[in-house]
Amino acid sequence: MRIDAITIFPEIFNVLDVSLLGKAREAGLLNFTAHNLRDFTTDVHRTVDDSPYGGGAGMVMKPEPWALALESVLPGEATDTADEDPSLPLLIIPTPSGHVFNQQLARALSHEKQLVFACGRYEGIDERVYEWASDKFRVLPVSLGDYVLNGGEVAVLAMIEAIGRLIPGVVGNPESLVEESHEDGLLEYPVYTKPSTWRDLEVPEVLLSGNHGKIARFRREAQLTRTAQRRPELILDIDPATTNRKDRDL
Ligand code: SAM
Repeated sequence: MRIDAITIFPEIFNVLDVSLLGKAREAGLLNFTAHNLRDFTTDVHRTVDDSPYGGGAGMVMKPEPWALALESVLPGEATDTADEDPSLPLLIIPTPSGHVFNQQLARALSHEKQLVFACGRYEGIDERVYEWASDKFRVLPVSLGDYVLNGGEVAVLAMIEAIGRLIPGVVGNPESLVEESHEDGLLEYPVYTKPSTWRDLEVPEVLLSGNHGKIARFRREAQLTRTAQRRPELILDIDPATTNRKDRDL
């Protein structure tokens, strides 16, 4: 997968050099580039912001550097290969007023050939950029959650990590992706490792029993209890057919 992030702080993305995503980049599974928006300015001060029309606090990101930066990552301009996906690349705009990011969206995005992230700062990007971009990209505003960050970079890092680990080959054992929180609409069951007694605290006995049916039932019940306690709204969203099928298999 090709991922381009446009930002005024490309160094924030240096963390993508390490751990599983660093290895995925080395292995060629993830082709990530951070582009400095200031490289697309034309004035001596490399200005990317200006005061808002209509007044108000803060600054707004100017449209022209964004247009030039976005044009530079379009397939055919930056990478012109015969097997390029004919569909438009997906431009993700991190913003607190976007669709809330979740595991289902991460999974859908993990099938894309190219993702472009436009990291806003200040009060955000001039709205006309999205209108202009909509015939060159599929444009999707996405929020990390109902709070306000200083910039899009941290939100984009979280999204890249959630999406990147779903790309085949990035996580060594694909089984570990299946039994995770939010994959089936529930939170994950509690996990334990050795020693079985630690500071007078015991691992639940059933997990030492070797009885796979009982273990699966224990974990399913723990998932349901934990989800009901911590995120009751998720229980309403799950497909009863899925829950029943899993329980039936035990
Ligand atoms: N004035 C904007 C508003 O009220 O919606 C907030 C601007 S915020 C200070 C600056 C940038 O941080 C945004 O343009 C966006 O890129 C990013 N950002 C802030 N909170 C975010 C969130 N919850 N999810 C995704 N991106 C966020």
